Amino acid sequence: TLTSKTAIVTGSTSGIGLAVARSLAREGANVVLNGFGKPEEIERERAGIEAEFGVGAAYSPADLTRPDEIAGLIAMGQERFGSVDVLVNNAGVQFVSPIEEFPPEKWEQIIALNLSAAFYAMRAAIPGMKERGWGRIINTASAHSLVASPFKSAYVAAKHGIAGLTKSAALELAPHGITVNCISPGYVWTPLVESQIPDTMKARSMTKEQVIEEVLLKAQPTKEFVTVDQVAALAVFLCSDAASQMTGANLSMDGGWTAQ
Ligand code: NAD
Repeated sequence: TLTSKTAIVTGSTSGIGLAVARSLAREGANVVLNGFGKPEEIERERAGIEAEFGVGAAYSPADLTRPDEIAGLIAMGQERFGSVDVLVNNAGVQFVSPIEEFPPEKWEQIIALNLSAAFYAMRAAIPGMKERGWGRIINTASAHSLVASPFKSAYVAAKHGIAGLTKSAALELAPHGITVNCISPGYVWTPLVESQIPDTMKARSMTKEQVIEEVLLKAQPTKEFVTVDQVAALAVFLCSDAASQMTGANLSMDGGWTAQ
């Protein structure tokens, strides 16, 4: 159980991050939510976590493309709850385009959010974890940390990068009781996947049904989407004592995608 521990989950106003934050709270952790969205909806989620699980829940609107705001997010968790014991680097966006038409500002945004943000958050959270001799860092990577798809150059580059960052950090932190792993889901039905369907329709001249069947689920031999709750259950396991000897791993949950 995570009672009296605190977890920061980046990008947790939606999708995978929200499910992870709720699951860690169910285990007794205080949680710091982060991400964008309608203030009243975010407040409803935050207050709901406190009421349902009897933990503290805070919210930070930090923009994770900005290193100063990332440092502020970690500091807020430490000030509010006294420690940051679990860090889940999850915030991410996707953009689909051929390389020669890929807007440079989109490239910079994806590298900043999907890769560099994890570095800045770790950098700020590690000293406290080392002091206490315990920590769990979980990075949401992707099947795209292991294999590529066309038209997702920035995303694939960032996700391959975060897989490498995970290994490096795991080796550095192994003597300190801190594990660092990444979870690599295949396609999970979230707003991120839903919202890339129109661009993929354009890039590949396909209908919505064709994109779902011939692009998304084509990659997954099970022919089913992963659920956010399945990803969250793996994150909870990685925080448990049973996982104390798992570090530096890239854990696939992709319906068999990367076995091919
Ligand atoms: P989502 O769009 O549902 O959630 C993304 C979250 O990130 C939201 O809370 C959003 O507000 C937040 N966010 C966006 N820009 C931000 C910024 N600049 N600063 C702070 N927060 C920001 O997406 P999701 O599908 O839940 O994706 C979460 C993670 O899982 C991402 O890293 C994504 O790459 C990864 N992933 C998703 C899938 C999938 O199929 N959905 C598969 C593999 C990996």
